[in-house]
Amino acid sequence: MRTLIRARWVVAFQDGGHRLLEHGEVLVEDDRIAWVGRRWDGPCDRTLEAPERLLIPGLITVHSHAANSPLTKSFLEDRGNPFHYMSGLYEYLTLTDTTVEDALLAARFSFVEMLRSGITTVVELGRLTADGVVEVAAALGIRAYVVPMYRSGRWYTPDGRRVLYEWSPDGGIPALEQAVAFVTKHDGAHGGRVRAFLGPAQIDTCTPELLRRTAAEAARLDVRVQIHAGQAVVEFQEIARRHGLTPVEYLHEVGLLNERLIVGHCLYIAGHSQVVFPGGRDLELLAASGAHVAHCPWVFGRRGVTMQSYPRYLKAGVNVALGTDTFPQDMLHEMRVAATLGKVADGDARVATARDVFTSATLGGARALGRDDLGRIAPGARADLVLVRLDSLGMAPVRDPIRNLVYSATREDVETVLVDGRVVLERGRVPGVDEVRLARDVQAAAERLWAQTRARDWAGRSPDEISPPSCPAWRDA
Ligand SMILES: [Zn+2]
Repeated sequence: MRTLIRARWVVAFQDGGHRLLEHGEVLVEDDRIAWVGRRWDGPCDRTLEAPERLLIPGLITVHSHAANSPLTKSFLEDRGNPFHYMSGLYEYLTLTDTTVEDALLAARFSFVEMLRSGITTVVELGRLTADGVVEVAAALGIRAYVVPMYRSGRWYTPDGRRVLYEWSPDGGIPALEQAVAFVTKHDGAHGGRVRAFLGPAQIDTCTPELLRRTAAEAARLDVRVQIHAGQAVVEFQEIARRHGLTPVEYLHEVGLLNERLIVGHCLYIAGHSQVVFPGGRDLELLAASGAHVAHCPWVFGRRGVTMQSYPRYLKAGVNVALGTDTFPQDMLHEMRVAATLGKVADGDARVATARDVFTSATLGGARALGRDDLGRIAPGARADLVLVRLDSLGMAPVRDPIRNLVYSATREDVETVLVDGRVVLERGRVPGVDEVRLARDVQAAAERLWAQTRARDWAGRSPDEISPPSCPAWRDA
């Protein structure tokens, strides 16, 4: 089946980067892009006329926790613990564990959100949900890298101040073995749209042995690894105390820092003002190693924290890809925040440009995943494509469609999404999904979670005590 798409603007790939092709044509043959250019004169089975549309490659989120993200909404915003340097990991994250059933509902909700924002490839990091997530992703048709996280222990706070670690006697080795079995079983499933790789959860909850064995298994299986590191001041200090190294240096020490590795967040490195650790060679190490950074600016930005800085990492030669992490699972929003916070961090409007963040969300993500057939509209690439309206309040007037996409578009402007040439979003909606029902189901799941808060909080507080509503409740006369 050959489909010719004729669009007003095409973001096409040429000479190693994106190019703006006005009045362009793209020939899709089955699951791949067969041809890109001004005018196709050859045969095709059907033509898709898109005279007021922008055609872009599908966006890639390299770091997400789809299987609980909407359930933290309406609770974690506007909150932060100064004793944890505003990180929500130690006091709040432990409150958001839910049942596998509710987590899979959350994953479905999140994947629908992603498709609505033009995301065609997701890297999903979870602990107990991996098997179910494979099915949820396959049913919706999104391209998914499913990463079952494992670790040697967990963190907790007994008093809202100290962060302590509780270690499991087996060091997490059996969990690594289960993850290896998962990867062996699922990598390449569902016509290659489901992939899998290894995910030691966090740098401070894994023993050096678990990390070294992960590096060896990843090399043996020839797969990627993703780990959270440099995500909190507390973690930076913990690794420095334990090993006399920065988190990035420690990743290098255990043999993980190479082109297989995606470092989740990696914003607390030597030189970040909040860790007060001058000098160091973290950026140089990152760039020289070929490791990739999953930059998720919004989840940190809403806590008053940012990378220092996204433009500086790019300039150092680090491959920075984007991740949506938690809610909203919206890459248009994430690109906008990456551009805004990048400019604010450097005090320079000319950096963290629309081109930079769009490249991070496409080619950067593809490089992080080791895929030269994703994130680009080029012959031979997968037909993961997104059509965006230009005749909308968000997108008109258009002179530079990439700027409009990054600074002004909303999910409502995303009209059609293809993955492997198959329609997974049509007229702005995911076929077969009742969004209102999905929202109601997620509301009920969140209410079940909030009812557990008191039992899980170190101080036995209610949700309203931990996170007071934005205004006092109405007072009846
Ligand atoms: Zn994460």
